[in-house]
Amino acid sequence: MADVSMEKIVQLCKSRGFVFPSSEIYGGFAAVYDYGQLGVELANNIKSAWWKAMVQYRSDVVGLDSAIFMSPKVWEASGHVTGFSDPLAECKSCHARVRVDHLLEEIGVIADEKMSEEQINSLFTENMAKVACPKCGKHDFSPAKSFNLLVKANLGNFTNDLTREPVYLRGETCQGIYVNFANVLTSSRKRVPFGIAQIGKAFRNEITARQFVFRTREFEQMEMQYFTHPDQEMVEYERLRQLRWQYYLDLGIKAENLQWHKHENLVFYAKEAYDIEYRYPFGFTELEGVHARGDYDLTQHSKFSGTMLDYTDPVTNEKYTPHIIESSVGVGRTLLAVLVDAYTEEEVEGEVRVVLKLPKALAPMKIAVLPLSKKEELQGPANNILTSLKRNWMVDYDETQSIGKRYRRQDEIGTPYCVTVDFETLNDQAVTVRDRDTMAQERVAIVDLENYFKQKLA
Ligand code: ATP
Repeated sequence: MADVSMEKIVQLCKSRGFVFPSSEIYGGFAAVYDYGQLGVELANNIKSAWWKAMVQYRSDVVGLDSAIFMSPKVWEASGHVTGFSDPLAECKSCHARVRVDHLLEEIGVIADEKMSEEQINSLFTENMAKVACPKCGKHDFSPAKSFNLLVKANLGNFTNDLTREPVYLRGETCQGIYVNFANVLTSSRKRVPFGIAQIGKAFRNEITARQFVFRTREFEQMEMQYFTHPDQEMVEYERLRQLRWQYYLDLGIKAENLQWHKHENLVFYAKEAYDIEYRYPFGFTELEGVHARGDYDLTQHSKFSGTMLDYTDPVTNEKYTPHIIESSVGVGRTLLAVLVDAYTEEEVEGEVRVVLKLPKALAPMKIAVLPLSKKEELQGPANNILTSLKRNWMVDYDETQSIGKRYRRQDEIGTPYCVTVDFETLNDQAVTVRDRDTMAQERVAIVDLENYFKQKLA
């Protein structure tokens, strides 16, 4: 288990403005969260790091931003309408709804997505005495039923005609990539192998609403789908696996908190599937999926749309349906992993110092400008420094409470540097810069500050 509890993370997120429960003044809205003033910065920095690694630094991947609403046919072709479901049961005593595969997993019994409703039910009945309702602790449940996770909408349904095909909020972002394969191919002049990446919202009727932003009903995904020659699929897959592992190390995640999990029971079209798991406070669990999907996606969309999504090699003239390897990760799961990884408690002069040792690139605020007193003579230079630094970085400003308390506050939100403007500044035109991790302080001339931080935050 991680060294920090979920309670501490949730509390920090709420009190400092990273994450708030949705619609809180109305009592909240289960499994939906809002990102506050620091959360939105952290999430933006995570998305930017991902985009740089997956699109900007590569010449074989392009970006996309497809719509959330899509033709209902997309979800039929993808298999989501019939097969995108989790096994749900109800506690006969308190009526809590539970995910049967998760309950079984807790006692070491694997009920995977390939199993039929009957198979899961027979496992469930066999083990019913051993699994307890997370709400009331009883052991009596209704039989498990497949519960479809797609979220229905009534977009454009002005007639209230319920016999019309339902429209869905997308359950994953990658379908928007598959259906644009031909558009990107002809407009970008890319050749196989190449990839399409996108970041966007996805929606799922998750049965259980636990574990904070780890599992939410509305969330953002960062997905890259890579189109390969069938013979090259597994070679490219190994390359992608290594790349994604290195990505987390480069992001600053500790290697000991990451592990691979190999899927043993694959869906029929998959060649291989691994998850990168992170050591969350509730145990090692999926952070990202890296999967080799064969030609399933393009074949299905060719069949259902009538548009052949194949590829002709311009050199060899070979015609084939590209195979797809994918990397798929949630912004919320990354944000939670980053926070858990960075959370540190240290003893300083007999007191506990809470520090978020966030990688500088991810820190929501890079610098805090702190005038030693609220006196006008310090506010003037402090504000000038603030305005000038803000051109390059997100900079916080705080002039209330003792300087020690203000340092602690910035430590708690992971700000790498504090700039203190004191009375000496008026004489020497210099400020004190304090380092979050070492707490070391040094005097830097105001004229040199911009270059100083350009080097420190590079
Ligand atoms: P799980 O088994 O945990 O339900 P999954 O295997 O269904 O996840 P995928 O469909 O592979 O997840 O989605 C890819 C990624 O999207 C996941 O690795 C995760 O990071 C993220 N993700 C999926 N569902 C959610 C959710 N409900 N809330 C937040 N992130 C999610």
